Amino acid sequence: MPSSDRTLHAVNLPSDWSPQSWRSRPAMQLPQYPDQAALEAALAELRALPPLVTSWEILALKQQLAEAQEGKRFLLQGGDCAESFDACTSDVISNRLKVLLQMSLVLVHGLRKPVVRVGRFAGQYAKPRSADSETIGEVTLPSYRGDMVNGPAFTAQARVPDPRRMVKAHARSAMTMNFVRALIDGGFADLHHPEYWNLSWVGHSPLAEEYRRMVDAIGDAVRFMETLSGSEVHNLNRVDFYTSHEALLLPYEESLTRQVPRHWGWFNLSTHFPWIGMRTAAVDGAHAEYFRGIRNPIALKVGPSVTPDQLLRTIDLLNPEDEPGRLTFIHRMGAAGIGDKLPPLLEAVRRDGRRVLWVCDPMHGNTESTRNGYKTRRFRNIRSELEQAFELHAAAGTRLGGVHLELTGEDVTECLGGARELTESDLERAYKSTVDPRLNYEQALEIAMLIVRKQAQ
Ligand code: PEP
Ligand code: MN
Repeated sequence: MPSSDRTLHAVNLPSDWSPQSWRSRPAMQLPQYPDQAALEAALAELRALPPLVTSWEILALKQQLAEAQEGKRFLLQGGDCAESFDACTSDVISNRLKVLLQMSLVLVHGLRKPVVRVGRFAGQYAKPRSADSETIGEVTLPSYRGDMVNGPAFTAQARVPDPRRMVKAHARSAMTMNFVRALIDGGFADLHHPEYWNLSWVGHSPLAEEYRRMVDAIGDAVRFMETLSGSEVHNLNRVDFYTSHEALLLPYEESLTRQVPRHWGWFNLSTHFPWIGMRTAAVDGAHAEYFRGIRNPIALKVGPSVTPDQLLRTIDLLNPEDEPGRLTFIHRMGAAGIGDKLPPLLEAVRRDGRRVLWVCDPMHGNTESTRNGYKTRRFRNIRSELEQAFELHAAAGTRLGGVHLELTGEDVTECLGGARELTESDLERAYKSTVDPRLNYEQALEIAMLIVRKQAQ
């Protein structure tokens, strides 16, 4: 191992692994491309393009996640269910970054610990689907699988998987990354001052008084720090921000899996923090095989059908040497199921002394359809799952170390409820998601405040 590689923990590269070894395993959710030559050409192009992130950023994030495992940090991971090529615009990107930074400021002050900030963006372009096809009236077409695979329009032509879309997704991810890095370097300074935030919703909440006190306390703390340093607090401006996406489309991920001069092993350089979705989490499947060999910190979605035994086998495969920061479990059970499903998993991992970061995704187990055909989620179910998660971890002697949310900085109406009590009739006003419903700006900030409130209890 080169001496420049200051890792937390020496781990061995699995000798029987390569960036292609997933190809010999059953692969779920991958598109069938009609034109193999076009696929090969797109992948060759991707293999030659520069990466989107660096190995040292990846290792820095792994270190932060290791600290989160010890309770010294809290993970905030959020963004769209699916990014779209059309929504790669300056407003969408900067508003999403703003809400995430504002949430993280609420969490830093309320939890009194640093926050690990991870966006679900700059690569969240491939989607797993419950059904391979979709029928409207008399017409059945293949499902939309994210802009990186095919188009959302309900036409036969749009739904054909097109490998050129991977090249476009790489470019869109690079543009997003570039803009996020520039905004962060530029400071985004007014974000530290809650007096500039849009907080008109707070008055609509039954917790208005409590929220106002919280916001005032953040403002006081920021002003105090600025007085101390005599000027703008510099390190308030310099924040770390990392990216993540579901590494579903393995040919794309493989093409950005590289070796680098200064660190041993293989890195997925398309994102800092890839995760395995619930539908592709089989321990003997292609996705687990691919993830096993990369050095990134990795996450796995854990749904209600996972057994304690499966979870322990997954740990054996993905983190056999118990490396700090390596493995995150994102549980997504649903408000109605979490009380039964989660405790046996927490107990098994704790009893075995395995090191994982536990994160709650209160979105994906709480999706429902309205009478008028919208896919939505109720704020009260999202809140309930999150609150139960804190309580169940406390009871099990484990720690909830983060949240994973689908959110946007835009004023959409996709999830029901929240301080403004959005109703079914509000959904048609600004429903923009092509896949899952997201928290809007106000609902997302409200969740951050609820987390602080819960932790203070
Ligand atoms: C998602 O995060 O958008 C998703 C599909 O989640 P899950 O794999 O948990 O269903
Ligand atoms: Mn989703």
